[in-house]
Amino acid sequence: MSDLKTGPGVDLDEFIEETISIYPAKVAKKRRGHMLVRDGGQEGLNQTINANARSVPGIITQRGCCYAGCKGVVIGPYGDMVHITHGPVGCGFYSWMTRRNLFRPGPDKKNYSQYCFSTDMQEHDIIFGGEKKLKQAIREAYETFRPNAISVHATCPVGLIGDDVAAVAREAEKELGVKVLAFNCEGYKGVSQSAGHHIANNRLFSDVVGTKDQAVEGYSVNVLGEYNIGGDAWEIERVLEKCGIKVAATFSGDGKYETMTYAHMASLNLVMCHRSINYLAEMMETKYGIPWAKVNFIGIRAMSKSLRKIAAFFDDPELTSRIEQVIAEEEKLALDGIAPYRARLEGKTAMLFVGGSRAHHYQDLLRDLGMIPVAAGYEFAHRDDYEGRQALKDIKLDADSRNIEELKVNPDPDRYRPRLSPEKLEQLEKDKVLKSYDGMLPDMPQGTLVVDDISHVELERLILTLKPDLLLSGIKDKYIIEKFGVPSKQLHNYDYSGPFAGYRGAVNFAGEIDMMINNPAWKLVSNPFKRKPLLQAGLGTDQ
Ligand code: SF4
Repeated sequence: MSDLKTGPGVDLDEFIEETISIYPAKVAKKRRGHMLVRDGGQEGLNQTINANARSVPGIITQRGCCYAGCKGVVIGPYGDMVHITHGPVGCGFYSWMTRRNLFRPGPDKKNYSQYCFSTDMQEHDIIFGGEKKLKQAIREAYETFRPNAISVHATCPVGLIGDDVAAVAREAEKELGVKVLAFNCEGYKGVSQSAGHHIANNRLFSDVVGTKDQAVEGYSVNVLGEYNIGGDAWEIERVLEKCGIKVAATFSGDGKYETMTYAHMASLNLVMCHRSINYLAEMMETKYGIPWAKVNFIGIRAMSKSLRKIAAFFDDPELTSRIEQVIAEEEKLALDGIAPYRARLEGKTAMLFVGGSRAHHYQDLLRDLGMIPVAAGYEFAHRDDYEGRQALKDIKLDADSRNIEELKVNPDPDRYRPRLSPEKLEQLEKDKVLKSYDGMLPDMPQGTLVVDDISHVELERLILTLKPDLLLSGIKDKYIIEKFGVPSKQLHNYDYSGPFAGYRGAVNFAGEIDMMINNPAWKLVSNPFKRKPLLQAGLGTDQ
């Protein structure tokens, strides 16, 4: 029985068994490994979960494809670049603006973030090849917009017919004199969008980062895996700047091509979304000596905790005292700001099924509001996102993982620069300031449910069983959830609001969640099929 204090008192083990019993035996066996009821303490986590495995065909998953992870998530937010989807226009539409990454142009005023570029492949191109069309598209995009760089993203049909996007990009780069990055991120290439993140990280690391040695002064950080949905990155930057910390480059929200080129000169990498960008952080550490710290800027206390990690890294009494001053000031404003909402939200339950880190990050913010996360899971995470980085050694390479190139990285003979002494690094690693991520599971209280790659039927059953007050979801499931009379805030684009990060974001979130949960309209929702049947059928023999 769930021992959640104000939870619904449902036997979740029984719930899992009943849910998987509706599947054929083979499918049930597979899905069983993706679900668990949290039964360990904070320490000594010994539960494992299956993740980053293929979804079972026929099951409705919330995942995206490899192309969506590369173009839609990691590369798309760079607003001063033109991103060309090489494929049918539908793929381009799928990754266009759905995440609502906001972008503020630099002094050159270049901003193409509102445009969707596609080679719009037709049957003719599939039969005779699309390389010429792609080359023409790159040329046209460059001549019309003069972007700071161009990216080209291969979709499923391109991989199937074998267009050499890398060769076309190389040729175009020579002809036009602008950086053209090619990504072989065909949709089918991985089990989810996760493969696309890895492909994007590899190319940014090998072709962009470290191509310009421009000094970055002061206490400098790069923010990695923050996508500036609804302006999150701007709130984070506001607070960091107030503390006296300079953001050298962001990967990718509000990111600019040029700042990436000298990101290797910064002192510290801050990793928000561990899943989508830990590859880049690790490679930059090996090659340039930049340590990385996992942070969470979602939630009032989480924001303060992350700022203290930064203070511990720079270890300068003056900076630390300024950071503490900012924390005191901003925390007070934020706690006062959420107080009226907290009084109305306290004790409400929430479920989170979204993305690769957000389902974990937002639990801190929910707890700030007195809410109780009762179930959570990721769409495309790997085991380390649930179990912590100690799981890395147990994760076996499979055919799908082998599909994605692992770059061999060595220290740069000229530009490797240790930021701290080996002793200091070791201490910070021991204190879990650097190189550490415990994952979601240790944060889930006893008796809560974790489901990886949740399917529609599982989600529906969970809503009917746990009856949550709120569901934080992705793009594809929002309206299905609301048909059950449960409010859903979708965390892939914030339903056109935000920011929700940092201190001010927490207050925005509290106000919106209160407006949703406590909206009396939900009591008026009733499904028409509950009042009277909409379809009637009988057995063929009866007619
Ligand atoms: S799965 Fe393939 S066809 Fe579908 S959106 Fe992704 S790249 Fe395009």
